[in-house]
Amino acid sequence: MQANEIDTKALYALSYGMFIVSSIDGGAMNGQAANAVIQVTSKPPGIAVAINKENYTHKLIEKSGLLAVSILEESAPLALIGRFGFRSGRDFDKFAGIKYEKTGSGIPCVTEHVLSWLEGKAINSMDTGTHTLFLVEVTETRVLSGGKPLTYAAYRERKGRTPGTSPLSIPEDDNEIKEGETKMKKYVCQVCGYVYDPDEGDPDGDIPAGTAFEDLPDDWTCPVCGASKDQFEPEE
Ligand code: FE
Repeated sequence: MQANEIDTKALYALSYGMFIVSSIDGGAMNGQAANAVIQVTSKPPGIAVAINKENYTHKLIEKSGLLAVSILEESAPLALIGRFGFRSGRDFDKFAGIKYEKTGSGIPCVTEHVLSWLEGKAINSMDTGTHTLFLVEVTETRVLSGGKPLTYAAYRERKGRTPGTSPLSIPEDDNEIKEGETKMKKYVCQVCGYVYDPDEGDPDGDIPAGTAFEDLPDDWTCPVCGASKDQFEPEE
């Protein structure tokens, strides 16, 4: 008998959306990027959400039994997803500087680049090894805009940097090069998609505007995911 084979590419063909799953416990709140959210019942509306047990958001959901799902729209910037996907909320306030509103239960939901949000309470859960699958009864919803949802496949494609070929590429506005002026190159974090723009610098990292990427200190790290300088590549 032939041995069974697992090719993870086979699983890439499954389709998903992209979401920010958030939760609270007491005064603490956090959110994380997730793709494993599906509707499982309609009367009453119920969803299933899989969350990695090591994540801070998992801890909050376990304690409060509450969570919310912000459904990202097609044009959601990689930096927004990276902010929620590549850093831990244990030592970093992911919602600082982000537009959000709170559900009736006080759970923060992202409101920019989001189509709608769902709030609910976990009514059951299942240990799946690395993750917990929460069965969630939806208790509140809000529709924010009517665009198209971001799919996980489109997100992967964009993260893989296919400039110009994807309608989802982030719009560029750097075609105004004055005569005699050499435009400093933007650099893209290959981990989270954050773009370092020399014209803006990195105010949070005390890097003044007008600093070329090459002139950043060696120990400078991506403000979104913490990746080191060598993880950056020039923007095409
Ligand atoms: Fe990064």
